[in-house]
Amino acid sequence: MSHKAAGGAKINRIRLNWLKPALVMAALFLGANALALPAEWKRLAEDPGDEAKLALAISHEKVRGGFSDMVPLANAFLEEAKSAPSPEIAAKYLKGAVLCAPSEPLVHAATLKNAVALSDWDTAFRSGKHLFDTLWSDPWFLIALPVRLSLAFCLAGTIAAAGFLITLFPYYFSIFFHDYRDLFPVRFRRYLPNASLALGVSVVLAFVPGILALFLLAAFLIAVYLPRKILVLFTAVLVVSVLSLSVLNYTARLTGAPGERSFLLYRVSKGDFGSDLEREVAAAFSENESERMLLDSILARRRGDLDSALQSARFLLIKEPENDLALMYVGNILHRQKDPVGAIGVYEEAVKAAPDNWMAFYNLSMLYTLRLNLVNSQTAMQAAEALDARAMQKYEISAPVIPGEINLAEPHLPVSLIYSQLSRPVETSGWLSDAWRLFGVSKFKFTPYYLAGLILVVMGLAWGANRSRLSVRCISCGSIKCQKCHPRGRSPLLCDACWSLKNASNMDETNLKRRREAVQAWTRKFSRFRKAGSILFPGFSRFIAEGGGVFNVILGLVWAFSLAWFLFSLFAPLPVYFYGAASFPWGAFVILTLCHVISIRTGERL
Ligand SMILES: [Zn+2]
Ligand SMILES: [Zn+2]
Repeated sequence: MSHKAAGGAKINRIRLNWLKPALVMAALFLGANALALPAEWKRLAEDPGDEAKLALAISHEKVRGGFSDMVPLANAFLEEAKSAPSPEIAAKYLKGAVLCAPSEPLVHAATLKNAVALSDWDTAFRSGKHLFDTLWSDPWFLIALPVRLSLAFCLAGTIAAAGFLITLFPYYFSIFFHDYRDLFPVRFRRYLPNASLALGVSVVLAFVPGILALFLLAAFLIAVYLPRKILVLFTAVLVVSVLSLSVLNYTARLTGAPGERSFLLYRVSKGDFGSDLEREVAAAFSENESERMLLDSILARRRGDLDSALQSARFLLIKEPENDLALMYVGNILHRQKDPVGAIGVYEEAVKAAPDNWMAFYNLSMLYTLRLNLVNSQTAMQAAEALDARAMQKYEISAPVIPGEINLAEPHLPVSLIYSQLSRPVETSGWLSDAWRLFGVSKFKFTPYYLAGLILVVMGLAWGANRSRLSVRCISCGSIKCQKCHPRGRSPLLCDACWSLKNASNMDETNLKRRREAVQAWTRKFSRFRKAGSILFPGFSRFIAEGGGVFNVILGLVWAFSLAWFLFSLFAPLPVYFYGAASFPWGAFVILTLCHVISIRTGERL
């Protein structure tokens, strides 16, 4: 009855690009592309006496097309529920949605929301549990979420690393440069240090061009001067930012051809079909691929063309005679074509090919029952139960039931098939190679893991280095206090002049005045520096200026994460699963602003 209406079923056709996983997830789960609900089903859903009839109608449709889930139709029910005049009527449509697609998280989320509106806590609790279970078994959710979260994490790391370097470099570079100059004999100190440093940097950039090399070089030069607390945190964010290269690479798989193929398999597993989808499958998979034959068979069956469905599944069996999935598809189609003997023959092969497949034994038992071969039926059923009693019970709870008919279980597309696409070799997409070039990774094919190792080694050496002979800054006037030039300073923290000033030892008026001015100038400069830091880099600048502080670290990390989230929500919206593509850029923006306000307000009090 609903066949014609469902014939044009499609979730949607959006070309895969950088945003596609997010957009399509949103489209899928918002029900933006729901079908029009057949009028008969609408009437059945609204009439309380006809609930059983609706369940029967949905069962018929499922058995006809070999569906395990029918998300496009479930979306149609959700649309109706949304525009229903009251939560009570919405609840009826939601029941239909759950019947159509029991393993789709969105239907449970919508039911949960509606049950809360009705204060129906029993239903709310059950829907919440179903939502949790279905969400964590949804293959696309399990791919997209970790990739997105790790992208946000790495972006935050990169932002934090940049914040650290920008605030640390001006302060520590001149100390490094003083010590570097001291390595040269006195008569060469005028030009040679600058020239040799410029030459060294150019040589490095000639071999490894790009921002990344410059960035790491700058970090390595000052590493040994950093207080150890800062060094540890800086190393951590540097490593994370370098690893973001791998995450970018993985994201490219989701957005390139492997992701597209993977997503097509996912769509079919969700009950999508229609001529648009068939065209996309034909474009993404070549004719002799097993996946193509499998998808062709499924889509033909959903279209109602059992002969083509059978043919495609048999083509696959010529290629892979022991493919139990293909055997089961053939068996189920033969059963639909009222050929139980043929179906039994195929299923007997299936259980031989896959003796651990409970569903093959279950269906074989059903077919024996149909032939009234009850002894064999029982043996097969016991085998199925022994293999996976839980899966069997789970299936039986939501299996379509048509009184007086024996139905075979429809095998799901294996999740491994969806995942395996992502491990196929990939052509790096355009935007990604641009990003890599920016980091300077195009010339040398080193992996980010080696870079992470290099960072750890260099920073480890900097941590362990003997710092007693390194210069420091005088905390009073900011001048560089060199342990070589003035080996016997009076104080480890103050330059000799400032020490004399403090201890009011014999200093003439001119010198005293000059010293006071130098101290004042440095104090002004440093407080300006701090102020700019607290405005631009909440948390980090104070962590550096104060040499630590848990509050500063937390503020800095919250700031980096919210900035990453904000940027991310603009360029690649992170869908919050069941309420659509809302990645809440405003939420990120508010947190970001708060971080800056807190930083400026607390900075003023210093
Ligand atoms: Zn001083
Ligand atoms: Zn010196």
